Amino acid sequence: MIIDSHVHIGNSEWGNFTPEYLINIIKEADYAVCSNLNGIDSTAGICDEYECNTEMLEVAKRYPKLKPLAVCQPNAAVNNCVIRNLLENHPEFVGLKIHPEYMRLPADSDKYNKYLELAREFKKPCLYHSGHIKSRFSSPVLIYKKAQEFPEVPVILGHLSTGPKDCHKMAIEILLDAVENDRANLYVDVSWIDFAFERLNESMEDTLLLIESLRKTRKGDQTYRILWGTDAPVGKFNHSRESYLKNLKIFKQRVLERFNDESLLENLLSENARKLYGF
Ligand SMILES: [Zn+2]
Repeated sequence: MIIDSHVHIGNSEWGNFTPEYLINIIKEADYAVCSNLNGIDSTAGICDEYECNTEMLEVAKRYPKLKPLAVCQPNAAVNNCVIRNLLENHPEFVGLKIHPEYMRLPADSDKYNKYLELAREFKKPCLYHSGHIKSRFSSPVLIYKKAQEFPEVPVILGHLSTGPKDCHKMAIEILLDAVENDRANLYVDVSWIDFAFERLNESMEDTLLLIESLRKTRKGDQTYRILWGTDAPVGKFNHSRESYLKNLKIFKQRVLERFNDESLLENLLSENARKLYGF
């Protein structure tokens, strides 16, 4: 089984992605955890929490392979009531989506608290855009700070960290610190890690380094915290079914070459996400 733990519909600077466009690209995936860019990055004006998440819900009804995340806008909403209502009435939302970079709201701001309280209450993971280590909005350092205030909430560092190898290494250090000292409940997805300048680094060095690092922690094997995900259709390398398949194929090859462990691969591709999200 294959679960893509990070995909999108909606309008963004990368294009206008209809559900049909996404579904065609991700044909290979059995399920995909999806959020609506109309509430994150829309070039046509940002929809509010109610609008973008209701639209996501309708799309998920039409395409049951899409598991919806509720986009949160603590920068704009007066309180958490819209998201609370959505979670109460629509348990099909599997988690929350938070993008500090587009909101230009530092990830350690107290404005996030009301949303993380909901995540804790409804037992939902939060998928963050984890940006450059030096970003004043979405640095994994800031996300980690906030995650430590809510140690029960699974916080996913989407993309690990953007930027070059140094950023990846520092984000891996953060994951290890959280795990080994029981400071926060961090997860990570592998989207964009080995992509730069619109192409895949086929050695997938940094992704393999991440897996290797979490395999041998002082708390033992923690690779269940790693989720395969692509961010499709965001990024030119995610714009066609062919390139999506190629990227998936290379990921599988590299993991098997390095670790020679089919069950590790299966966990990364589906089981870890299935357990985390409970579907
Ligand atoms: Zn994304």
